[in-house]
Amino acid sequence: MTRLPRSGFLSLIAAPLLGAVKAPQGDDADPAFWSASPALRVLLGRGEAAPLSAELFSFNGRPFRGKFSRLADGQVVNLVDLEAYLYSVVAAEMPAHWPAQALQAQSICARTYVLQRSDPRREYDLIPSQLDQVYNGVAGETASTTDAVRTTAATVLKYGNNFARIAYSSCCGGHTEGSADAWGGPSLPYLAGVPCTWCDASPNFRWTRVFALGELGAQLSDGMPPGTQVQDLRVAQRDASGRARQVELVTTEGSAFVAASALRRAVGFRELPSLLILQFQRDPNADRIGAQGGGLGHGVGLCQWGARGLALQGRTAVEILGLYFPATSVAHLDR
Ligand SMILES: [Zn+2]
Repeated sequence: MTRLPRSGFLSLIAAPLLGAVKAPQGDDADPAFWSASPALRVLLGRGEAAPLSAELFSFNGRPFRGKFSRLADGQVVNLVDLEAYLYSVVAAEMPAHWPAQALQAQSICARTYVLQRSDPRREYDLIPSQLDQVYNGVAGETASTTDAVRTTAATVLKYGNNFARIAYSSCCGGHTEGSADAWGGPSLPYLAGVPCTWCDASPNFRWTRVFALGELGAQLSDGMPPGTQVQDLRVAQRDASGRARQVELVTTEGSAFVAASALRRAVGFRELPSLLILQFQRDPNADRIGAQGGGLGHGVGLCQWGARGLALQGRTAVEILGLYFPATSVAHLDR
């Protein structure tokens, strides 16, 4: 493992993240703060912001750590220490009562995600939603998740000399997904997908959804002759993890093929919890079809329910990360 300079933690964050921060607008302009404090920039959006203390401010009535500034368009940006940001994120991204080693694995993932993603060319580093990581400020923090962040302080996942590209989702259904299959781009050796036998306690490990064929036809009728009716569905092609890649629509006008991702988009992400569609089953007595599948979410990277299962078996956070991100290593930023 490459050893980082002694001051690596602060300089790593300060240099790329603070380097491009724009001059603050309004009353909170404090040159000393801007030059001295390493801070993430989390875009909170439009609303009322006011200082509460030296360490806290309120945004739309909710307390947040750090300081705030406004972009030229008036949106509020929270400038917050990476570790303090993680207190809220880990509590939002994983149930606080889960085992400590799972919470610690989640903490290392969330920290690495930030460092790998942050782009100094943007006006902010992260948004506080699932598009990056969920962040609710102080009100979302819990003792167990804050403890997991502190226990793993400055600990990250690396691939070679770089921060690993991090993804995580609720339940993989038995095999994690390859990042290239999910999102395209180069195949990363540590995100190629691995078998997972530890997430079967999830309520979404297996699921069934029922769809009215008439509605499906309306949702998928683009490019089909008017009046075409969908009669049945089949998984036509799967990727290496078993997830559906292409779906055959059996219609009154013959077969049509759609990307499984387009099917999920059309019916809704909540209605089809993942692309691990094990089979479709046409109801012989009604104009509807069942989809049986497994998992919740994209399935790439850490399987959170799997991490929980492994932690309950006594595995450590480092062991958990080694299983889901093979060929990576855990590193400490300031050693
Ligand atoms: Zn799993």
